[in-house]
Parts: sequence; C-alpha cells; structure tokens
Amino acid sequence: MVWELNLWGSEGSLSLRPEDRNIEETIRRLALINAVSYEGKARKDSVLGRLLAEKPDLRTRVKEILPLISRVVREVDGLSLEEQRTIVQEKWPEELRKEKREEERVLPPLPNVEEYEQVVTRFAPNPDCVLHMGSARAIVLCYEYAQMYDGRFILRFEDTDPRLKRSALEFVDLIREDLLWLGCKWDAEYIQSDRLTIYYEYADKIIRDGQAYVCTCLPKKFRDLVSMKRSCPCRDLTPSENLQRWNRMLDGTYDEGQAVVRVKTDLDHPNPAVRDWPALRIIDPKRHPHPRVGEKYRVWPLYNFACGVDDHLLGITHIIRGKEHLTNQERQEYLYRYLGWEYPEAIHYGRLKIVGASLSKSEILRGVKSGRYKSWDDPRLATFAALRRRGIMPEAVRQMMISVGPGPADIVLSWENLYAHNRKLIDPIARRFFFVQDPIRLVVRKAPEEFMVDIPLHPDRPKLGSRHFEVNLRNDEASLLISRKDLPIIKEEEVVRLMELFNFRADMFEKDTVLATFHSRSYEEARNLSAPLIHWIPDGTGLPCRVVMPDCSSLTGLVEDDLRGVRPGEVVQFERFGFVRVDKVNGRPVVYYAHR
Ligand SMILES: [Zn+2]
Repeated sequence: MVWELNLWGSEGSLSLRPEDRNIEETIRRLALINAVSYEGKARKDSVLGRLLAEKPDLRTRVKEILPLISRVVREVDGLSLEEQRTIVQEKWPEELRKEKREEERVLPPLPNVEEYEQVVTRFAPNPDCVLHMGSARAIVLCYEYAQMYDGRFILRFEDTDPRLKRSALEFVDLIREDLLWLGCKWDAEYIQSDRLTIYYEYADKIIRDGQAYVCTCLPKKFRDLVSMKRSCPCRDLTPSENLQRWNRMLDGTYDEGQAVVRVKTDLDHPNPAVRDWPALRIIDPKRHPHPRVGEKYRVWPLYNFACGVDDHLLGITHIIRGKEHLTNQERQEYLYRYLGWEYPEAIHYGRLKIVGASLSKSEILRGVKSGRYKSWDDPRLATFAALRRRGIMPEAVRQMMISVGPGPADIVLSWENLYAHNRKLIDPIARRFFFVQDPIRLVVRKAPEEFMVDIPLHPDRPKLGSRHFEVNLRNDEASLLISRKDLPIIKEEEVVRLMELFNFRADMFEKDTVLATFHSRSYEEARNLSAPLIHWIPDGTGLPCRVVMPDCSSLTGLVEDDLRGVRPGEVVQFERFGFVRVDKVNGRPVVYYAHR
C-alpha cells in the first residue's frame, strides 16, 4: 500500500438495514477471494475497492461499512489458506482464475475518508497551454476518487503569473473542452485571477502576525544569506514596518523586482529552497497586463501561496498530484500552521513517462508558435486534442490511468499501452472498410460469372449491415484494384484469395498490373492451400483518400465508396491496415491513423 491506513481502527456500531444482509455475504466472498490471492491474508483496502466497484450505491456509506469489513476480514484471516482455498474452489471456482487480473483495475481507497464530510478533489491547471497526457493521471484520479466517494471534483485555473507562465483565454476554453471530452465533468470552477483580494487579505494577516515579511534584498544577496542559514535584515523588521512595505508594494512605490513577501520558515530547514519562501511579488502591469484582468493588479501571489490558500478555502480534502510537489507541501505547511489550518490529505504519485511522447508544455508551445506543429491537434503531439483527432477514445485514457493508479513508483509506458486499451474499446464496434493503398490493377481471366457480394460492416455484428460490391466482367475478365504493398505476398503460380470474393493464381507481373487466372471460389479451398488473403475494390470504384499518419506524413489510396456515408468523427477500421478516425468525407476524404 502507498499510505498508512488508519481508517480501520474503530469498530463502531453498525446500523445495517434488513436489506443489507447480503452486503456481509458479498464482503465475505470478496475477502475470501482476496485472501487466496494474497497468501491467506485479505487486504481490507482491496475488499473495500472491490465492494464499491460492485455496489456503487454503497459509496455514501463507506464509514458505516468499514467496521464490518474489518470484522469479516479478521474472520477470514483466521482460516488457513487451505481452508480459504477450499471454500473459494467450491463456491466460486472461476474467481481463482481471474482475481489477480481484475485487481489492477480498482483504485485503492483514499486515506482518512471518514474524517471528512465529503471528499473534495481538484484539478488545477495553469491555462497557458492545452492539456496533454502528462495531465491525464491527475485529472482521472481526482475525478474518479470524487465519484468513488460521492464527493466533489473542482476545476481551478491557476493564472497568477502574467509574466513568465502567461495564461491565455483561449486555453481556458480548450481545457474545459478537454475535460468534457475525458468525461470528467467538474462540480465547481474557480479562476485565481478573480481571487486576488482574498490572497491580499491572508498576506496582510500573516505579515501583521509577524509570520511573513517584505524582503527588499537583491535575490542573490538573499540566497547567499539563506544558504548559510542566516536571516536577511528585512526578517527582523517589526510587523508594522512590514505592513508599510506591503502597502508600498500595493500602491506602486516599489517597482517590479524591488520587493517580495516571504513566509518565515525554519532557517535550518534542510532544503534551502524551502527557507523563507516567496509568497507574493510585483509584476509590472503595464508591461505584463493580465489576459483576464488587465492592469488591475500589480501584486501577484506565487504558486505555493495561491494554491495553499485555495486548497483550504475551497475545502479540498484530498490533494492527488505528482511527487515533484512534495517540497511544495513542506512550504505550504508553514502557511497552514500560521493560519491554524489542517493540511489536506496529500497523495503524491510517481513519475509517469510515455516513451516517444513529448510531455513538455514549453516544447508544445514553441513548436506550435514556430509552425513546426500545425496546431494543438497535430498528430505528433500527445495533447488530448491530437488523441481525439486520431480516434483515441477518452475511455482508453481513463482506463490506462486507473490501471496506473496513484502509486509512488515511477512508471514507464508506451503508446502501445494506450493503443491496447483503445483497441479493446473500438474493435468490437468499428465498421470495416477496404482501403487500397497505392493501388495497382489486378486482371483475372477466366472468371466464370459476374460477382455480387455483400460483406458485413462488422464480422461479429450482422445488425450493422453490409457493403455491396459488384464485380463486372469484360469478356471473361474481372478487373480489380489491389494495394501495391501486397505485391510481395503474391507469388507467380501461387493461389491468393481476394477477401470474401474468390481465389486467383498470378500469371504475370507488368508495370502497375498483375495478370492472373481465376482459381476457385470457396474460402475452404484457399484455406487448404494456405493462400494469403488480400483486400480489394472493383476497378472504376473507390474514393481517393488521404491518411494522416502519427508522424504527420500522409499516405494515399482508394477507399471504398461507402465511406461517404460515415459521419466525420467516427472511428472505422481499414482492413489489414489499421483503425482510423474519419476526419472529412466531403470531396476527397481525409482520415487520421490511430493504430493497428
Ligand atoms: Zn531581505
């Protein structure tokens, strides 16, 4: 487990309703199954996670159920592993096979949930870029946990740096759009640039109480002193002297760079970056107007101050974020102590790297600005906009992040992990079409008759209907288009099957044409000869189609005419080619390649 669980201690009295009788039985089943997977000792957190997944309506009654789980787990743990296994084998034999596998998909419980009225989580982006996969874990975990406990999920825009991490209104909208696409709808929204007077109020208070001061030292001088664990001269000024300085920050007497509010910390703190950290600073409003509030404010809170104040005031109970924020927690805890606040539960997960994906915001911004990337949804990017355009389902992102979970270990994933989740979702529903990349002609002689075939749009879902093809003959010749890429598998004198049509034997290869002879009709015949299968479209049909690949290159070919009836946005499968998202069907169709 990632954190210490101290929610199991109290036994409490349980007010089970008559209709809840089977809850205990469910818990016993889950505990037994879990114990068998973990050498005879059931994990209470896993049992709870599984229980809530099975019976979501119990999410509001977690407190009530915990003591019951404790008791049942104790009983189950009292049995020997042999006894546990016998019971499971008898009652739920299928569970012995699938338990370990399913375990990974359930989030572990949050710590100390019972200490709060309602679980409140937040996602707090700076609207200075669109969202990308680097944010997926924070979003999905915060949202899912809020759902799991029937809590609230808050969206907070942190736009308090109009100079270096300048936000833009455009991104506020794009981020909202990304969250809605992910299916993570927020219960409340805040924008920090609306809240400046709140930050001023708390700055005023801690300066007044002598817990913060206004430092006018040159940054280098301050750093040198603090690295030697020595205070700068400003630290020892009286609160009223500091309040005067604070007012000079606000009224424009000080210019940008001349003064900063610092929160007092232990000067012996082992990390020099924590010592007397900066809380608010001046940004010249004329040179750096804010995109939302313009030149209205000249003093802006820094990250730790604004975030710390807001997490408390907005009632956040569980902060779920990357472990690079551990130092920020140490900084903010001083502020919380001074203001008499309790620091929320904080869960810091490990780093997540996706091989081959640039998750650097600055690189994305630079690349789009310079024109190296065409837009936010350039397929080379790992932005949600790009994933969306390529036909990655939001559910695939969600599932991948739930399987990653909130653990502290560093994790490396590949695009293929995401594709595997996506494939599982779209393979059962994506309609199939033939796409002939780089077409060449196949002329088949001695065809016995004209062919009319109906090929299902999905092999397992007849209800989706089918596509109709007619292969006409001139004399006894059938003329078809096949992909030049299939040439290597067509060998002279050997039989090849045209999928769902007939089998032929290649006679001769000319430039852009394969001459062949009809062999037979049935699939069984092809199978007996181990004939390779290729796809095709009738000569004279097909729409010229452009496929945009993940590296932003393009492939061209002909796609069967029925693609015209597909709505843009739908993900379909080009058989033997891969899944694509249809981007445009009017004129010359354009599709974006997702994956195999
Ligand atoms: Zn100073």
